[in-house]
Amino acid sequence: MTVITLQRHIPPAEQGLYLLLPFEMPANTARLDLRYAYQSHASEPLALPEGQFARTKRVNIVDIGLIAPDGSQVGASGSSRSEIMVSETSATPGYQPYPLTPGSWQIILGAYVIAPEGVDVEIRLEFTPKVPRWLCGDLHVHTLASDGSLPLEHLAEHARIHGLDFIAITDHNQPVKRAAFPKVEGLTIIPGQEWTHYKGHSNFLGLEQPYQGSFIANSQKEVQAIFREAHQNGALIVINHPYETNFGFRYNLDSLDYDLIEVWNGPMRPANLEAIARWDAMLKAGRKQVATCGSDYHEDTFFQRLASPCTYVLADSNSDADILKAVKAGRSYFAFSPTSLQVLLDVEGQTFGASLAWREGMQASLKGLALEKGDVIRLITQETTQDIFTAPEKGNFETSLPVTGPGYWRLEVWRTFFSFLPAMPALITNPIWFE
Ligand SMILES: [Zn+2]
Ligand SMILES: [Zn+2]
Repeated sequence: MTVITLQRHIPPAEQGLYLLLPFEMPANTARLDLRYAYQSHASEPLALPEGQFARTKRVNIVDIGLIAPDGSQVGASGSSRSEIMVSETSATPGYQPYPLTPGSWQIILGAYVIAPEGVDVEIRLEFTPKVPRWLCGDLHVHTLASDGSLPLEHLAEHARIHGLDFIAITDHNQPVKRAAFPKVEGLTIIPGQEWTHYKGHSNFLGLEQPYQGSFIANSQKEVQAIFREAHQNGALIVINHPYETNFGFRYNLDSLDYDLIEVWNGPMRPANLEAIARWDAMLKAGRKQVATCGSDYHEDTFFQRLASPCTYVLADSNSDADILKAVKAGRSYFAFSPTSLQVLLDVEGQTFGASLAWREGMQASLKGLALEKGDVIRLITQETTQDIFTAPEKGNFETSLPVTGPGYWRLEVWRTFFSFLPAMPALITNPIWFE
């Protein structure tokens, strides 16, 4: 944590003015705490028939406020608060949650009443840095706004009951408004839309309105234009369930601007296994393609549940921007449900999604947590697919492996969920690349 203190003397001549005090927001700040103090009251002797008293009176009133580098008012609170907190996801009343972008911010000091001798104001700024942590959520969810069964308020409660940190709302061809999102403590709701067409579905994540006009497109060219516009506007674009028999993606992927492929949609089934196989072929061909997953939740059924599968991301904070940044970078893995099952990989302080320069003697440290007896950890690299570990009992296991050459590494956990069915993936990671 970084702390700085600023001082400002306000002479009486500045009474009635709004003064601006600049400060630098450090990069990677998760939370700003501002405290300010000045002499607000003074006492003067008061002689009364009953004896000597002192009278306390207000001699200075200094208001406070905050302005972001883009000139936007983040908040103002008069003189009623001496402590203010702002982060991207929450803030003291009177202030809006705001991205703490690095650069020159300004404190507003409102010199409302200033004593004849002037006043010294001391401002203490505390910058808490972002600390990456694993968050779990669901990036593909429908509500009553399209063909889901739950209104957003119920869905958000449902998400918290499942222990999720985030959900993305992806109704078919429906723009959303952040202002309509319910506030649920600990849950980040990410705006999105499932662009839905007879020839393919695609999630546009992170924006209320990824493109102007309507979703309709009757040619490859019109589809390209929608994708290009959404991408340029900053949407994270996911090709959904690409190899599903009825709802697969039948436009030429290479002609479109997109970021991710949804290789695991809802319950594990042949179309997902095919998506995983085709994704792996892209990786083998040298393409740094990042994958993602989503439950495509509509309602609770025997086969479909919220966050089955669930996306785990190593995000700098729980803001939607930081979550999507981690999703885009592939700092993620997918598990069959929000569970304690984890696979953690560390190579020189880096994990999934990273690109490292390969060198002789490189070691990877691998942890499998909350494995069930018989769970198999599979390592898929540029050259081989190997079952590297079979859990002899329920528990946590770790090992260290040499990274034998350049290429990618990704991991899967295979589990026999039902004795009468073959084993299936219970967890899939994004790759780490060695160059
Ligand atoms: Zn779909
Ligand atoms: Zn869907």
